[in-house]
Amino acid sequence: MRGKSIGGLVLGAILLLGTSVSARADEDAALRARAHEIHDRVIAIDTHVDIPTSFATPAYDPGEDNPAPVLVDIPKMEKGGLDGVFFIVYVPQTERDPAGESAAISKAFAKFAAIHRMADNQNADRIGLATSAADVRRLNEEGKKVALIGIENGFVVDHHPELLDIYYELGARYFGLVHNGHNDLADSAQPKESLGDKPNDAGGEHQGLSPMGEAVVRRCNDLGIMVDISHSAKSTALDAIRLSRAPVIASHSSVHALRAHPRNMDDETMKAMAAKGGVIQIVAFDDYLHEVPKAKHKARGEAAKRLGLTSLEAFFDASEEAKAEFRKISDELDAEYPRSTLSDLIDHIDYAVTLVGIDHVGIASDFQGGGGIQGWRDAGETFNVTLELVRRGYGEEEIAKLWGGNILRVMDEVEAARKQGAKQVE
Ligand SMILES: [Zn+2]
Repeated sequence: MRGKSIGGLVLGAILLLGTSVSARADEDAALRARAHEIHDRVIAIDTHVDIPTSFATPAYDPGEDNPAPVLVDIPKMEKGGLDGVFFIVYVPQTERDPAGESAAISKAFAKFAAIHRMADNQNADRIGLATSAADVRRLNEEGKKVALIGIENGFVVDHHPELLDIYYELGARYFGLVHNGHNDLADSAQPKESLGDKPNDAGGEHQGLSPMGEAVVRRCNDLGIMVDISHSAKSTALDAIRLSRAPVIASHSSVHALRAHPRNMDDETMKAMAAKGGVIQIVAFDDYLHEVPKAKHKARGEAAKRLGLTSLEAFFDASEEAKAEFRKISDELDAEYPRSTLSDLIDHIDYAVTLVGIDHVGIASDFQGGGGIQGWRDAGETFNVTLELVRRGYGEEEIAKLWGGNILRVMDEVEAARKQGAKQVE
């Protein structure tokens, strides 16, 4: 009797377990279906993707499904349901002398040309260049992917602020004031000792924006370019927020309260930015989401140096052997020290949403600039972010804002704040 009863209990438990497992599977399927519906309806925009100067050449044809290190191309955007991408005109900070400046300017023009080659030419039937939020919505309606352009590092204007007008005409709609290393416009969140930069806790260089930096922020406002404070020192960020007539953005930054990295934004800066209508685009960058052990940084850095992969260009132009070897080392390091997860990413989004509200938070990958986490390793996996948001209780209206609604609202506001009579470019 007793034995039978125990047997019955065991059987019951097994049946119950079976029911709960299948109930969970049903729930998962329903959640996934709901996430798909939402992901299909919203406009998903990634606000930060780096490109090498070989972008839109046979070496990296964005119309093809390319192997790594390419993480973003049109087939991957299609697969992942990613509708729009800010492609980045990035230049590294080097010596601020005439040779350094002219190299930076040439590189900037080469990257503008690359983005135009893709959107105006090779793949014009599949992707279009947007220079306004209205363009983004129209291209999306037409069933095309959307390319937008952001600048990363004010070094591209340095002593030639008139270049800003030209960059605007070429399609730039956000302007990152500074990168790693102070420049003549602003102090960086990460000064470069190798360039002789003074650390920020020792006063930095300009203690925020220089007079030239202030003039550039004003000109961005006049033209209708969003000012981007990612990579800025806190002093720079607060100066830009105070000075700007229009909302400013952080195109790819995460939350300092969760990961004390100089690249992340603290509560005071986030609140000040949101009070002016801006957005922080939480970035899927491993080291900004959780602390990456020094040993991993060191091993990766040494491997990159040994293989000559010390710049974005070198990384893309390397031999197949070098690429494969670096990938192998990278994978081994990721196995030993796992990358951040989608759950970590949503933790940062949750924190920012709780602090400054759902209207002031967005999403960025920093693909090809060091971004990529477990579950969102390339543009083809973009749906997973929406799935995780749904799992964490976000509804369609909120997800629509996070994925694109907020950045498009800011673009509209920045455009509306354009100076009347500023040169019209159509
Ligand atoms: Zn960056």
